[in-house]
Amino acid sequence: MIDDGLPPLRDVVESCGIEPSRALGQNFLFDLNLTGRIARVAGPLAGVPVVEVGPGPGGLTRALLAEGAEVVAVERDRRCLPALRAIADRYPGRLTVIEGDALEVVPARLPARADGRPWRIVANLPYNVATPLLTGWIEAEAWPPWYDRMVLMFQREVAERIVATPAERADYGRLGVLCGWRTRARILFDVAPSNFVPPPKVMSSIVELVPNPSPLPCGAASLSRVTAAAFGQRRKMLRQSLKGLATPRGPVDVASLLERAGLDGTARAETLTVAEFVTLARLSEA
Ligand code: SAM
Repeated sequence: MIDDGLPPLRDVVESCGIEPSRALGQNFLFDLNLTGRIARVAGPLAGVPVVEVGPGPGGLTRALLAEGAEVVAVERDRRCLPALRAIADRYPGRLTVIEGDALEVVPARLPARADGRPWRIVANLPYNVATPLLTGWIEAEAWPPWYDRMVLMFQREVAERIVATPAERADYGRLGVLCGWRTRARILFDVAPSNFVPPPKVMSSIVELVPNPSPLPCGAASLSRVTAAAFGQRRKMLRQSLKGLATPRGPVDVASLLERAGLDGTARAETLTVAEFVTLARLSEA
């Protein structure tokens, strides 16, 4: 149990008048044992720069700080700021709060680090922006990226899509290809709805994603274009689903592309490995 001398989260939310907002994806964690567990699986954290998206009243923030992290927390809801200020006072110099939309702020407005240490991203993500945040971070131009690991809460169904391979056909799609290309992703544990206030309708999971230091060479935009076309009509054969594929230079000759990639045009997207998608993406630019 975290003994930081700060008030229980239930009291914090009440005294700050933070009525949970569905539009902001606010499902709070009040149990500091659980937030402590999340912080520990993201650790060791002593002196580690952590960016947290959506600290809310600060349950996970407090756990990260108790484990020794230096936290930058990005929160859109200004009603949470007084609670976060109280936490910052309890941990002088170790918590910076940025008010704003994480889609714009992370990583663009993160403070520069003199020591050049990579960030770690740890968050109970707002589910409405969780997937665009994740794909933006994985499609980072510079690779290895600005972070060394991500430990993130998603809806269980999204977590399954992140870790899916062609063996799990129903879940395998664009997200699985992207994550499988540039990261090693695994589900660490599930979190039941009863742990949140208010409880969401679905099960959640903590997912760890570690950047792959040398992913197969390919442009993120090309891979995105190819997987969008292939999975856009996932029940169709590739020779059909890829028909509209075009690069900024113009339409792609799909028959020639499949032949150069050594792929059978009658195959379906959900049977292709990540390496085969990368080959298609690379050759589509050639
Ligand atoms: N971390 C807290 C916890 O575990 O109790 C709150 C998690 S809650 C699922 C998501 C948080 O993200 C909310 O505090 C919400 O206000 C915030 N949020 C929603 N959209 C955001 C955005 N685009 N950028 C930054 N924060 C956002």
